[in-house]
Amino acid sequence: MAAVQLSGIFKRYGDTQVVHGIDLHIDDGEFVVLVGPSGCGKSTLMRMVAGLEEISGGDLMIGGTRANHLAPQQRNISMVFQSYALYPHLSVYENIAFGPRIRKESPANFKPRIEAAAKMLNLGGYLDRLPRALSGGQRQRVAMGRAVVREPSLFLFDEPLSNLDAKLRVQMRTEIKALHQRLKNTVIYVTHDQIEAMTMADRIVVMNAGRIEQIGRPLELYDRPSNLFVASFLGSPSMNFAEGIVVDHSQGLALKLADGGEIVLEGAPLSANVGARVTLGVRPEHIETVTQTPDAIMEVEVVEPTGAETHLYGKIGGNTWCVTTRQRSKVEPGERVALRLPAAHIHLFDTESGRRLV
Ligand code: ADP
Repeated sequence: MAAVQLSGIFKRYGDTQVVHGIDLHIDDGEFVVLVGPSGCGKSTLMRMVAGLEEISGGDLMIGGTRANHLAPQQRNISMVFQSYALYPHLSVYENIAFGPRIRKESPANFKPRIEAAAKMLNLGGYLDRLPRALSGGQRQRVAMGRAVVREPSLFLFDEPLSNLDAKLRVQMRTEIKALHQRLKNTVIYVTHDQIEAMTMADRIVVMNAGRIEQIGRPLELYDRPSNLFVASFLGSPSMNFAEGIVVDHSQGLALKLADGGEIVLEGAPLSANVGARVTLGVRPEHIETVTQTPDAIMEVEVVEPTGAETHLYGKIGGNTWCVTTRQRSKVEPGERVALRLPAAHIHLFDTESGRRLV
């Protein structure tokens, strides 16, 4: 097992810096997910931890040892990639045994480990098959089996589920989480998928343009995003936003929108002053539809029933908003709905810096 410490890690390709001084401590046994849009530097960071990419500056400690210049095989890590990289001409057993054989371990030593891994990953009945006779999910499990038999102190996953269909992705993410709960190893998992991050992580690291935007437990980030980037990145459908200027209102304060509309900020715990340029955020599931004294009015453009809930889409202040209701809604496109934005669920951000105000 291993704790991982990154201190001031940066990466340059020629004159271009793509990772800008990352500080991150990962506890022994923790499942940490690096999430962010494509190109934000997640893979580069992980490949530096793996030893597949040179570290341009800063310190990397794995299990208390400085690892900057250790070769990948000296770092006691296993990596699972998006492509399963299985050998097509080798059976499942031989694919999993490939690493131990290369390391010249005796079969008596690795056979029990392979059998245990196969049992844990539900591959027991498939050990003699070739990869082409397996489903996508089974292939991904073989790739994990290969990682598991190494008994590494650190597991690295780089978008391991991206090639699977939606249903299998959901199933495999539960399996990877269950595997972690059994093995209690340290995991760094890279994905661009915020749902994967939310459902799997002990802690999420949200990255953007080579920097960390916020680190925290999934629901901490969801409930109190520290800036507009994190607020808009986590959540599906995503948080609704409206930019405006804080003005006085008979019920307290309101947000005056660019299109002349107003959103009442009744009871919102405001630290913003009248005249401040702020961006209000509210999640679709926190908005209530009401019949009286609304905080905002939305003309519905699209109604989307998902079965479990209904999404109502319309415009507020020029932005498309989504309101999620658990009831089967009878609202039709073209109708105006009165909305209440509960004060406890309003997020306010400074429009210019993007930083959270309350
Ligand atoms: P992510 O994994 O978040 O999609 P990457 O870590 O792959 O992002 O890439 C981060 C940035 O580094 C991108 O702008 C990418 O173009 C750049 N980059 C990655 N590899 C190289 C390379 N070998 N040479 C130059 N730039 C690179």
